[in-house]
Amino acid sequence: SSGINFAKYDNIPVKVTGENVPQPIKNFESARLRGIVLDNVVKSGYVVPTPIQKVSIPVIAEGRDLMACAQTGSGKTAAFLLPILNNILDESHDLEIGKPQAVIVSPTRELAIQIFNEARKFSYTTYLKISIVYGGTSFKYQNECITKGCHVLIATPGRLLDFVDRTFITFDDTRFIVLDEADRMLDMGFSDSMRKIMHHQTMRPEHQTLMFSATFPEEIQRMAGEFLKNYVFVTIGVVGG
Ligand code: ADP
Ligand code: MG
Repeated sequence: SSGINFAKYDNIPVKVTGENVPQPIKNFESARLRGIVLDNVVKSGYVVPTPIQKVSIPVIAEGRDLMACAQTGSGKTAAFLLPILNNILDESHDLEIGKPQAVIVSPTRELAIQIFNEARKFSYTTYLKISIVYGGTSFKYQNECITKGCHVLIATPGRLLDFVDRTFITFDDTRFIVLDEADRMLDMGFSDSMRKIMHHQTMRPEHQTLMFSATFPEEIQRMAGEFLKNYVFVTIGVVGG
């Protein structure tokens, strides 16, 4: 159903660099996920983690920044969603209206909706509130949803900045910021928006930044150096520039 071809991953090169990199997990059971999250992983039909998930889940769970490169269809969404949702549930931080604890930036509405749907599946029967905002549609309705409270905000770059400019949404409580499909965001002309988001003045100094990309062109390398601190760098397979 999902189209993940695990056989082709058997001999795929995995390159991980960084200081004190946590060991990859071998299966979801050893990922230290809460029972409720693990149940949802199983309900989603996930049996074994993909290579990017094996490396990324413990790295994010241990509080590290991450630059991850792996081809489309390799399971990058769950690689960041699972440790983020699990952390927010574990720490049960108080939810303040307008202060999402995780912000996930995605280049297109379609990709944002896919992330939203996965996040809903993995957080099924938990109290987590997930919201989504993107351009080309009513600002007011999206604002009403956010006003009900949101732990995790999934957003396209332009609409996210609109919300930050025009409403009480802030990054004050944001512990995780994800730039997903970073190379596509660049191709779509979002490099200024990405910088504006990452350098936003209310960004907590101790937040974790996670960048995911299918390719690793020079501009993404520069951004990784600019946005990430003491980060783990992983490439799965042969990743072009
Ligand atoms: P990427 O972001 O790398 O392009 P996705 O996260 O969109 O890849 O995953 C591609 C597809 O594979 C999705 O349908 C997703 O639900 C599925 N998938 C991801 N991880 C697993 C897994 N461990 N087991 C089974 N299916 C998976
Ligand atoms: Mg993706």
